[in-house]
Amino acid sequence: MKTIDDFSFAGQVVLIRVDFNVPLQADFSVADGTRILATVPTIAKIRNDGGRVVLMSHLGRPSAREDKYSLRHIVTYLEKALQTRVSFVNDCLGEGAQTAIAQMKDAEVILLENVRFYAEEEAGDVAFAQKLAKLGDMYVNDAFGTAHRAHASTAIIAQFFPKKACFGYVMANEILNVNKVLKGGTPPITAVVGGSKVSSKIAILEQLMGRVDHLIIGGGMAYTFLRAQGGQTGNSICEENLQGLALELMATARAKGVQIHLPIDVVCADAFSPEANTQVCEANAIPEGWQGLDAGPKTIASFAAVVKLSKTLLWNGPIGVFEFEKFATGTRELGEVIAAQTEAGTLFSLVGGGDSVSAVNQFGLAKRVSYVSTGGGAMLEYLEGRTLPGIEAVLKNA
Ligand code: AMP
Repeated sequence: MKTIDDFSFAGQVVLIRVDFNVPLQADFSVADGTRILATVPTIAKIRNDGGRVVLMSHLGRPSAREDKYSLRHIVTYLEKALQTRVSFVNDCLGEGAQTAIAQMKDAEVILLENVRFYAEEEAGDVAFAQKLAKLGDMYVNDAFGTAHRAHASTAIIAQFFPKKACFGYVMANEILNVNKVLKGGTPPITAVVGGSKVSSKIAILEQLMGRVDHLIIGGGMAYTFLRAQGGQTGNSICEENLQGLALELMATARAKGVQIHLPIDVVCADAFSPEANTQVCEANAIPEGWQGLDAGPKTIASFAAVVKLSKTLLWNGPIGVFEFEKFATGTRELGEVIAAQTEAGTLFSLVGGGDSVSAVNQFGLAKRVSYVSTGGGAMLEYLEGRTLPGIEAVLKNA
């Protein structure tokens, strides 16, 4: 995998595809700049080499040129993050962009306007990608968040940079860290898969079967497994039509020597509400009218024991309705154990895809685990074993 560390960028115009698709407030100031801050080391390395940085990104889903989706809104934030002046060009193509780039000096930074102001971007139009490519001498893809899209600036463009395309640090870190789990993690390897539905996690569960030693199934999706085994799950979320698949997955697990861990007891509620009445029940004996919304104490202890014997761990999806304080305990306590084991140096822990990322942020655990993916949908697709066009395109041309 070629990264920016394999190149020196002195005097080169470097087109960097970043993911500056950040949430904005009503006054258009940046509400959460995590994605911008993540790209600072990549931009710094290229500037330190004496490269000329031209940043391309999308923002939102504009159907035409709309000011609310203009990347000019993020310039002040970006200048502060980079501690340097950023020139904004109000188009990503055309004479304005060409002239501004031609006048650049080494280490200067230009931000181009939203690439999605052209429908050709999402269409993956080759001619459009070629026009973008003409703006730079080298191409760096650092937009993991859109790596699962075959868009012009994320994938199609790479073919115009033979031997001059590589990954920035955001991309490289995401790939390296998830591969530490999926390809050659130190055993025992454990995956904690939670969230609301089995249906959205089928491909991930199937992928994990051949790769992990332990599979902890928590959250809403556990009830489909419990019910399939004849348990009474009351009003808990359950996908009746997937019970057969749940049994098949359990059979595959047995055949492959994967130990599946399901909840033993759960915190039940008489309504899906933050103010609901609660009681702790056996996970397979939930009374009618009640629904399981969090892991119970025995479950937490049993999941924690598995975490403690693991050396490598992937966490995808919360194990309860953590958005409601009454049902956040399981997710918080499991997160604490994962963080503590990581800090003790006995566990490599990756949190990726879906709401577990929000959960670790909410509980202040993000800095205490080994790696938190910023990739959202892209990380989910990577975990599902799919080829991501943004990664593939750079690998082919690196
Ligand atoms: P997902 O996007 O599939 O990862 O699901 C995340 C959502 O699952 C979160 O919003 C949680 O509130 C929800 N969730 C977790 N446990 C349960 C449960 N027992 N019942 C219903 N929803 C749950």
